[in-house]
Amino acid sequence: MSVLDLARPEIRAMQPYSSARMEASGGQVFLNANESAWAPLGDNGVGCNRYPEPQPKALVEGLAALYGVRREQLLVGRGSDEAIDLLVRAFCRAGQDAILIQPPTFGMYAVSARIQNAAVIEVPLADDFTLDVDAVLAAITPAVKLVFVCTPNNPSGQCVSRDDIERLLQGLDGRALLVVDEAYVEFAHHGSVADLIDRYQHLAVLRTLSKAWALAGARIGSLLASAEVISLLRLIMPPYPIPLPCLAAALAAFSEQGQNQAREHMASVRSEHERMRAALAALPGVRAVLPSQANFLAVRFGDAGAAYRKLLDAGVVVRDIRRYPNLHDALRITIGRPEENDRVLDVLGSPPVAGRGATETSTAGEHP
Ligand SMILES: *Cc1c(COP(=O)(O)O)cnc(C)c1O
Repeated sequence: MSVLDLARPEIRAMQPYSSARMEASGGQVFLNANESAWAPLGDNGVGCNRYPEPQPKALVEGLAALYGVRREQLLVGRGSDEAIDLLVRAFCRAGQDAILIQPPTFGMYAVSARIQNAAVIEVPLADDFTLDVDAVLAAITPAVKLVFVCTPNNPSGQCVSRDDIERLLQGLDGRALLVVDEAYVEFAHHGSVADLIDRYQHLAVLRTLSKAWALAGARIGSLLASAEVISLLRLIMPPYPIPLPCLAAALAAFSEQGQNQAREHMASVRSEHERMRAALAALPGVRAVLPSQANFLAVRFGDAGAAYRKLLDAGVVVRDIRRYPNLHDALRITIGRPEENDRVLDVLGSPPVAGRGATETSTAGEHP
């Protein structure tokens, strides 16, 4: 069987929108897309009066080389978020099909499913945040079309081994597409599983320039999958997902200078990660620092609410993750610049503010 047999039949039957930009080939004078003939003020040669390429060639080639796949195995769009949404829309029939996730995990899988009116089946991670492959496979019903696995996982930070990914792939063959979200893989001790795409047509991998590549604001994410799945998603992708200024930012990041800078910053995150893990674990109010292979640490506190407010009062914003299962006492702290990390340690290491109990709620203005 083909992995496309899992997709919505009406999507498979669709004709893509044919944009003027796609139909144009050759030519020097472009009067085919009702664009302005004049570049806007401050354009600096970007050419924003013209529509961008649907899948900018230079970007697709750069990303395919970076991720070690062929061009036809890659779709670039507005962050991984867009790829998650396209997958759910292409594979899940509203009111009938389902996705499977392992909480606590990234929230966008369930959000996209709810928008599509697909059910969300949850197989929680174990107490040590490891994934139970047998439990996932046992929970697969004919309705489940997509299984999302986040590794390293957000917000807990743990990884799923390559062996477990392969066991999942073997168990899901002919049943569901496995979507491995590798948003933080650049920080992990192991590599990507994207090389398995050639062996498993039902594997898709999400990558992003938002984290290690410092381009969260440019919104550039990639889906790596078999050429069949990529072609299917191109049928429903909006015609011009990558704005020209974002394309320019991404191409600059791929220059030799850009790559060197990114590598330097990733090395800094790795060493700061080690320093912060040890220093946080030694603080009095800290119960545990969860093992993490990402650019953040999930930290358990005796009183996470008080720690959150103490940091906020000092102008430091971290993520309150107490709403997640098994993380009711935890905050997620991103690794920043060394001086920013120092500030976290200074604030958390300082004695409590006089006149306020550790568990008391602060109100604005109480502590000027
Ligand atoms: C940050 C993050 C992403 C990236 O999303 P973009 O839309 O590419 O910015 C994807 N998955 C997870 C788990 C993340 O934490």
